[in-house]
Amino acid sequence: MTDQTHPAHSSFSSSPAAGEGSDDAVVSRRADVDPSDAASKRVFVRTYGCQMNVYDSDRMAEVLGPQGYRTTDTMDDADLVILNTCHIREKAAEKVYSELGRIRKLKDERGPEGKPLMVGVAGCVAQAEGREIARRAPVVDMVFGPQSYHRLPDLIARAARGESVVETEFEIDEKFDALSRQAERPTVRRAPSAFLTVQEGCDKFCTFCVVPYTRGAEVSRPLAQILREAEQLAAGGVREITLLGQNVNAWHGEGADGRPWGLGRLLRRLAEIPGLDRLRYTTSHPRDMDDDLIAAHADLRELMPYLHLPVQSGSDRILAAMNRKHTRDDYFRLIERIREAAPGLALSGDFIVGFPGETDADFADTLDLVRRVEYAACFSFKYSQRPGTPGATMADQVPEEVKTARLIELQALLTEQQQAFNRSRIGMRMEVLFEKIGRMPGQITGKSPWLQPVQVEAPQDMIGSIQTVEIVGLGSNSLFGRLVAGHNDRAAASGAVSKEDAI
Ligand code: SF4
Repeated sequence: MTDQTHPAHSSFSSSPAAGEGSDDAVVSRRADVDPSDAASKRVFVRTYGCQMNVYDSDRMAEVLGPQGYRTTDTMDDADLVILNTCHIREKAAEKVYSELGRIRKLKDERGPEGKPLMVGVAGCVAQAEGREIARRAPVVDMVFGPQSYHRLPDLIARAARGESVVETEFEIDEKFDALSRQAERPTVRRAPSAFLTVQEGCDKFCTFCVVPYTRGAEVSRPLAQILREAEQLAAGGVREITLLGQNVNAWHGEGADGRPWGLGRLLRRLAEIPGLDRLRYTTSHPRDMDDDLIAAHADLRELMPYLHLPVQSGSDRILAAMNRKHTRDDYFRLIERIREAAPGLALSGDFIVGFPGETDADFADTLDLVRRVEYAACFSFKYSQRPGTPGATMADQVPEEVKTARLIELQALLTEQQQAFNRSRIGMRMEVLFEKIGRMPGQITGKSPWLQPVQVEAPQDMIGSIQTVEIVGLGSNSLFGRLVAGHNDRAAASGAVSKEDAI
C-alpha cells in the first residue's frame, strides 16, 4: 500500500515495503542458468521502487534463465535491458524517459554492426503509459505491465520479429499460475531470506495513490500455490519469507479445510513448514487487521515482532480527504489491541505531509499521533500530485516550502524515535539471521527480528544460519553485536531473546 513513501530517512530499513515507492534502483542478479555458460545472452534488469518490483525482477530473471539469459550487473554488455519501473514517485515517467535516452546512446554507440540490444520497459510506468512509451522512445522494443512478465519469452520473440510489443492487460490469475509453475521447478539454493507474493492490487482508492490504477483490483493468490512456493523456498534453504502484497492483509482464500482463510490462518499454516523460521508480511492496511491476524502475532514465534502499518496522517480531516476509511482513534485502538497481543512488537509506518488542504493544526495532529504511537522506523514524504488521482486536482494544494518545513519537522521526530528504539536494543540478546558478508573484513551481516541490520564478527559459513547475538553498539545504519557462545543455530523458531537474558 501507500505510494508516496520512501525509506530514505529510515536508515534501518533496507528496502521499501510492497507498494511503497522509491527511486532507488536495484539491480537484480539472480538467474537460473549456469554462469559458466559463455554462450549465454545477458540481461540487465534495473529495478525501481518497492519490494514487489524487486520480487517481479527476480521472477523475470528466472523466466529468462531457461531462455539462455544470465543476469549482468552492467548495461554495457547486455543483450537485453529491462527497466522495471515504479510510478509512485513524482516525475517517475520522466526519469524513465531520461534513462531510455542513455540507453539509446549506448545502442547508437554499438552501431548497426555491433551487438544488438533489446529494450523492455516493465512495471507500473509501463502500465500507466502503455504505447506512449514506444511512441516517445522508439529505442523501446517491449512495454509490459506488472502482470505480463511471465510472458517474456513470447514478447522477446515477437520483438525480435520487429513487432513493437505493448502488453498492459490485467491478467493477474495467469501471472499467479505462472508463479506457481516456476515454484515447481527443481530446487535451487537460495538466499536465506525471500519474498513471496500472495496478493496484488488494491480496491481502497486512497486519493493520493496510483496503485489501484496501475496494479488493478485486489486479487489473492490461491492457497495451494502459496504453499507450494513456500515449501520450494524452504527446500532451497530459505529461512525467512516476507509475504508481499499492496494490501497483503486483505489476502483471503479457501483454506485446506474448505473454509475461508485470512492472512492469520495462512501464516499459521506457513509456520508449520519445516525450516521456515521467520515470517513477515508487508504492506498492511489498518482496516484489514482482523482478530485472527492480531492473534497470530501472539501465537506464532515464527512471526517476527515487527509490523508495517501505515496511517499517512494524524488528522481525521485529512484522513477523510485521503479516503483512508479509518480515523486516528480507529488507528490508536488497533495499535492498542496489537500491542496487548504482542507486547514486544515494534511498529513502522508511512506519512504524507502537505496533502491538499492540510493546515498547521492537521499537521500538529500528525506529530501528536507519532508521539503517542512511538515508531521504530517510518517512511515519510511530501505529497506530490499523481496524474489521474483525485488528489491531483484538489483545491488547496500546499505550497512546496510549507511541505518541506513540515517534512523536516516530522522526520526529526521520527529519527529521534528510531534512534531511541535502536538504543533500547543495546545489551539485548536476540536471534539474528545472517544473510551476507559484512562491510568490514571478518564481519557478516544479518537481520534482527525488528528488521535492523546487525554486523557481527563471525565466520562466513554462518551465513544462512540463525544465531544468538548480544547487541553491543550502534552504527549509523546498523547494530553491532557479538555472538553469544553456546547459542548456536537451531532448526526451528526464531525471535527475540528476552532482555532479562542479557549478559
Ligand atoms: S490505494 Fe491506499 S490502500 Fe491501496 S495501495 Fe494505495 S495507499 Fe495503499
